[in-house]
Amino acid sequence: MANETLRAVRGMNDILPAEIGVWQHFEATVRAWLASYGYRELRTPILEQTALFKRAIGEVTDIVEKEMYTFVDELNGESLTLRPEGTASCVRAVIEHNLIYDGGKRLWYQGPMFRHERPQKGRYRQFHQIGVEALGFAGPDTDIEHLLMTARLWRLLGIGEAVTLEINSLGGVESRARHRAKLISYLEAHQEILDEDAKRRLYSNPLRILDTKNPALRALVEAAPRLIDELDAAARAHFDAVCAGLDAAGIAYRINPRLVRGLDYYNYTVFEWVTDRLGAQGTVCAGGRFDGLIEQLGGKSAPACGFAMGIERLLALMAELGQAGSAEGPDAYLVNVGDAAARRAQTVAETLRDGGLSVVLHAGGGSFKSQMKKADASAARYAIILGDDEVAAGEVSLKALRGAAWGDTQQQRVPLQAAVELIKQGVTNGNL
Ligand code: ATP
Ligand code: MG
Repeated sequence: MANETLRAVRGMNDILPAEIGVWQHFEATVRAWLASYGYRELRTPILEQTALFKRAIGEVTDIVEKEMYTFVDELNGESLTLRPEGTASCVRAVIEHNLIYDGGKRLWYQGPMFRHERPQKGRYRQFHQIGVEALGFAGPDTDIEHLLMTARLWRLLGIGEAVTLEINSLGGVESRARHRAKLISYLEAHQEILDEDAKRRLYSNPLRILDTKNPALRALVEAAPRLIDELDAAARAHFDAVCAGLDAAGIAYRINPRLVRGLDYYNYTVFEWVTDRLGAQGTVCAGGRFDGLIEQLGGKSAPACGFAMGIERLLALMAELGQAGSAEGPDAYLVNVGDAAARRAQTVAETLRDGGLSVVLHAGGGSFKSQMKKADASAARYAIILGDDEVAAGEVSLKALRGAAWGDTQQQRVPLQAAVELIKQGVTNGNL
């Protein structure tokens, strides 16, 4: 229909200029934080072969069963999927480019993920994650590094008081097999309570039933046999070392024996950072160890662990706590009144930028008063005013819009180069 208004796809959001400041603040904080731990960015395509996610995440998981955007590439008949998460792609790239042939690697990725979920607050069909993976490291020290680094990030973002850590161990292959047998017979004995999903998963993936969001199953799940009771000596020692590392660093945590995670590839440590400030979608970061995944995807067996955080949920939490900050304006807004000033304005703006300042040039004419209103609304720190008098004298007028930078809020007329220096002083002193 030619006249129908086109809209964004449901559950997929535009990030508008008014919101971008907090995203950029978040991203800058995250980059510096990752660099401080020696992690390097890996960028992978947003589309992958469908088989990658089926093999990595597992056929009997929410994501693969019902959340993936999968389509056939009509040009060659290949089945492709928009990535629902980042670990599978990361491991695929590491194997494909043989990145860990000479030892472990610390990597991170960021970007949009796609899941066909029911949109609601904190749950979108396109959402964004930062993911961190340490590949090739077997010891609990790497698990601890990830928990310490996430705890540090929450402090950096000003949300440390609002999140808590839950951890569990899923054990190794043998403990899981033992637990699986007990879990199946327990669930078989309560067949009548199971919902459709649980019935379907009873033999294919009973552990996933513990991850259910159905309140009707809560009591059943609470009383189910616990994996943590089945840990063998090696898994126990690993888990104890992780807990000891947290204790030594003074990071509070709760051992949650029901925590299993919604993806197949985890073993040993799993964890989630949760908040009670965001309603139902309270998990802001989740991860753990996945020692079997690299081999499962065709690589040479190597241990690994990592985590991913949901950016939208973290930004919502920052906003909730008043940590979202305010939009940064340019250093200066260049007001130009009259024909001579309008002709000269472009050159003056370029000179200011040569001097290292960010400058918004007023466009579209208008009275002095209306231009000053725009200058104020731009959140600029200074208005630089160019009228016919200033042009004739080769000068500009300068007015601090946000506080006094030199102990003087009065407008003053100075040569252009002097204006550059004064503004820079004000900007670097930050004494606004
Ligand atoms: P949930 O139990 O909330 O569905 P999940 O176990 O499916 O989460 P992961 O695959 O572990 O989530 O993804 C890591 C993080 O990414 C989550 O903790 C959450 O912060 C975020 N996340 C996951 N799915 C979405 C979504 N649809 N919209 C927004 N954020 C999401
Ligand atoms: Mg989910």
